[in-house]
Amino acid sequence: MSRSNIIVVGAGIAGVMTALELQRSGESVTLIDRWEPGHSRAASTDYNRVIRSIHGKDEFYTKWARESWKRWLELQAESGQRLIYQCGALILATEGHCHWEDNTCETFDRLGVPHYLMSQNEIAAHFPQFKVDDIKYGIFEPEAGMTMAHRGVRTAFDLFMAAGGKHKRGRVVTDSGERPHLDGKPLEADVIVVATGPWMADMFPRTIKPISAIVGIHVFYHSTPDGDTSFDQGPMPCWIDHGQGSFGLPSSEGSGVKAAVVIPSHIDLDNSERLVDKAMLNRTRTYIRRRLPGLVGEKVVDTKFNQIILTPDTHFIVDWHPRHKNLLLAGGCSGHLYKHGPVFGEFAAGVATGKFGTADRFRIGARKKLSPSESPSGR
Ligand SMILES: Cc1cc2nc3c(=O)[nH]c(=O)nc-3n(C[C@H](O)[C@H](O)[C@H](O)COP(=O)(O)OP(=O)(O)OC[C@H]3O[C@@H](n4cnc5c(N)ncnc54)[C@H](O)[C@@H]3O)c2cc1C
Repeated sequence: MSRSNIIVVGAGIAGVMTALELQRSGESVTLIDRWEPGHSRAASTDYNRVIRSIHGKDEFYTKWARESWKRWLELQAESGQRLIYQCGALILATEGHCHWEDNTCETFDRLGVPHYLMSQNEIAAHFPQFKVDDIKYGIFEPEAGMTMAHRGVRTAFDLFMAAGGKHKRGRVVTDSGERPHLDGKPLEADVIVVATGPWMADMFPRTIKPISAIVGIHVFYHSTPDGDTSFDQGPMPCWIDHGQGSFGLPSSEGSGVKAAVVIPSHIDLDNSERLVDKAMLNRTRTYIRRRLPGLVGEKVVDTKFNQIILTPDTHFIVDWHPRHKNLLLAGGCSGHLYKHGPVFGEFAAGVATGKFGTADRFRIGARKKLSPSESPSGR
């Protein structure tokens, strides 16, 4: 069987995992990015990302996350790189704000996903880092935790190169018909996969822009108290706190505790300085006083300001361009793609090579906002 020539544009987690899968399945793949894979503007960088199967009533992503968990462990074993910390994920369900959490429990029961329901007292006993007087219950998912985000991208990229993949630095632009060009010439390949994350909206103003919004998010890493290990991964899980519009990760490899209060900010992908906002720091400090009193007085030791591309229903995009039959668009992260990276890559590669069609949820076309209880991300 002859090998297809495939170009993958974008070396974030979506692109590197797709390129790796295609190259390993025997295709001849060139991966193109504007900057060095792992660069700090991409959504897929930063130290870490949460990996958890918690997706409300959505069985599809719950199963993808479970499968991705295994794949990350396999990649870790194969590469010898630390890609996963199994510190678990704790979801805090606030009184009056529990639809998504209630739905998650039902989904976990149906699919047999290991989890513990915890009362306020049990959370306080097991995870005393959290002040939970307003929490109705918690769901602890033990086969979950954090992926090392930058390292994951670099590891997949190295495996892709070791498998014979080719890499090129360059900025792909689109013409008025949304056809991709590089260095003044149309890109030529049997299949072109564009996985340019948030940049997809501007590259495809007619196809992607109408079903996406770009939002910037500030995250702050706080130091941990001198001599205290309780805020390290292991004693402390990753957490999601929808009632407070927040999530975070414990300290790992000395990173400090990462806390984010998700208040979407304007970001210009190419022109914004990636500096954090003092007002956002104050919001995060207010959150820490509320939820993590042991960190009050601790200092910010690192920060990150980067972006997500949000679709109305928070489903990803994996679909052929309506006009160009060899052009597959793959992304639409909606704030939850990183963890699914290995399965997303396998899926996008399968669609790219015609092994199967895409899923209805990933199609380009009219999308509508889902209620928080219907949405896979609870947003
Ligand atoms: C603060 C924050 C927290 C998050 N937390 C989580 C979490 O806990 N768990 C989780 O699973 N997900 C999380 N996410 C979401 C996750 O990080 C993203 O879904 C994922 O990284 C998106 O990957 P991507 O490959 O689609 O995009 P990107 O990583 O942005 O990659 C796109 C690549 O395309 C390249 N590119 C762009 N334009 C061009 C061009 N014209 N030509 C060539 N190359 C181009 C870019 O340089 C970049 O390398 C979070 C996101 C943010 C911002």
